[in-house]
Amino acid sequence: MHHLVAAQADRTPGRIAVRCGTTALTYRELLDTAGTVAGRLERRGIGFGHRVAVSVDRSTDLVVALLGVLLAGAAFVPVDPTYPAERQAYMLRDAGARLTLTVGRLAGRATTGDVLLLDAPDPGAKPNADVAGRNAADAAGSGDLAYLMYTSGSTGRPKAVMVDHHCLVKGVLAMAPVVAPEPEDVWVSVTSASFDPILVDLFLPLASGGSVVIAEERQVLDGRELGRLLDGCGATVLQATPLAWSMLLDAGWRGRLRVALCGGEPLSPSLAAALRPRVGRLWNIYGPTETTIWSTAHLVTNADQAVVPVGFPLPDTTVRLLDEQLRPAAPGERGEVWIGGGGVTSGYAGLPELTAERFTADPFEPGGRLYRTGDLGHLDATGALVLVGRADHQVKIRGHRVEPGEIESRLAEDSAVAEAVVSARQDGDDQRLVAYLRPRRGHVLDEARIRAHAADRLPRHMLPAAYVTVDCWPRTPNGKIDRRALPEPPARLASPRDADGEPAETAPLTGGGPRADAVSRAGAPPLDDVGSLDEVAAALAGVWGDLLALAPTDAETDFFALGGTSLDVMRMVKSISTRFGVRLSAVQLMREPTLSAHAELVRTALTAADAARPQP
Ligand code: AMP
Repeated sequence: MHHLVAAQADRTPGRIAVRCGTTALTYRELLDTAGTVAGRLERRGIGFGHRVAVSVDRSTDLVVALLGVLLAGAAFVPVDPTYPAERQAYMLRDAGARLTLTVGRLAGRATTGDVLLLDAPDPGAKPNADVAGRNAADAAGSGDLAYLMYTSGSTGRPKAVMVDHHCLVKGVLAMAPVVAPEPEDVWVSVTSASFDPILVDLFLPLASGGSVVIAEERQVLDGRELGRLLDGCGATVLQATPLAWSMLLDAGWRGRLRVALCGGEPLSPSLAAALRPRVGRLWNIYGPTETTIWSTAHLVTNADQAVVPVGFPLPDTTVRLLDEQLRPAAPGERGEVWIGGGGVTSGYAGLPELTAERFTADPFEPGGRLYRTGDLGHLDATGALVLVGRADHQVKIRGHRVEPGEIESRLAEDSAVAEAVVSARQDGDDQRLVAYLRPRRGHVLDEARIRAHAADRLPRHMLPAAYVTVDCWPRTPNGKIDRRALPEPPARLASPRDADGEPAETAPLTGGGPRADAVSRAGAPPLDDVGSLDEVAAALAGVWGDLLALAPTDAETDFFALGGTSLDVMRMVKSISTRFGVRLSAVQLMREPTLSAHAELVRTALTAADAARPQP
């Protein structure tokens, strides 16, 4: 990949390669800066065969870091700096990362261990071009590891997919016939660094002479801001999840793009219909991390009224629909999706048994390997793949792949929990996680304690929104827990409210067969007990309560630990504006998600608004 980018830099050294906010780097500057990073890594003893954690926020530094690691011959491991410290530390240990590349503004949030700050002065810097040139020549070959990408693991810990350079190049270049990249392209990137489609966002344009605009965090979170960015920078290509596309359309975006890529979750016919008039070509793209970025693509047409297929295999990709015995499903019949071809990765780092379970020799092609996706599908009359669900319990929560088993294992660590089941429930356009807990005999569940335990260990998108106590599980005829018969969660999930949120009802918990109760709120006093809060904080606690149907325990309560989501934060921006007459940014609210920090932001904004008012 670094050779392809370096070759492009030789062809168009002065063209803008990457931009974020007011920072821009030409192709030559990008290669030089990344080469300098590679040189600094080498001086720290990092090179071929090593793994480097990359914990950088949305900025041009992110591209420099990823390219720098590749130029040094090492493999990168994206580590999200917003993850709890325990999870970051686990990932570093598990990945065997020798060092973390980060930036000064994140050093406090990023992990412990050996750290290299991209933005710190480098006394030993060598002439840039030399370093870049030399590294590009000696770096890793196609069978060597390019990156490790973590995904949720059903046994309680995240698992790392090992991706080599061959797969990376295949994964990126297989998208070329879909996008048909042009040197004039301006590709806006909204993908998170811990999600592999970012590599298409960055490397497909950089290998073909286009430029990448990295959207800032506030632009990723807010449809209006994103729309302004797209229109302002002359964007031609955007790759996003269905949720992000809906956010953009809901915010009234009326611009035009040459190519729109939608992937990661099912694309509904209604969203496809709303989007198509705004874009030259709309593609529904599908693929798991284990087969490197995307594996199939479907060009959406107005024939896709009832369902939008995920389409046909990309170049150097095979898709097989097989039954339990690995026999091909009959034409038109449902089967499990197995994927083969050049994107099939070598498996999970340090997990040979799981690798053997999910990856197998292709019975129909000597020497080929297949990955078992867990997706169920059939082929339509045109031969296009249509997905119909999952063979397991894996879900997608706001674009993130989540194994409920990982959350269940962490919840079961509480001494009062005998057994936990986590299930995703539809909540308007969103999916929320509900935790069902069966207490140990003679124990009472303490929801505040369990929420805090989960928040210290799991990323925000994996924190359950609601907790329900269950005395005994509903069972299917063959004795398994019947997840579909689990009782309805509390009202907020059953009846979503609009952005301004009417006051939350304290709805009774309904339970069909088994008895359901909200978990004991020991340690979570009702709202009016939070007497020590000042007026602003108390009013904000009310806003939180309306959004979450759950009152904060105290001023240091974390919004995400209470089950709040990034979408709830967007709703909070609106509620705060209605309640206090000031507009805060979602990014500010997410960066410090405690009640006291939010109250401080509101007070500061109120003071500023007062000062700006004309004096009598
Ligand atoms: P990830 O490894 O995070 O890319 O997640 C891969 C999973 O996301 C797939 O196995 C599918 O279940 C789901 N997925 C990805 N793209 C699509 C799509 N276009 N339509 C439906 N499901 C999708």
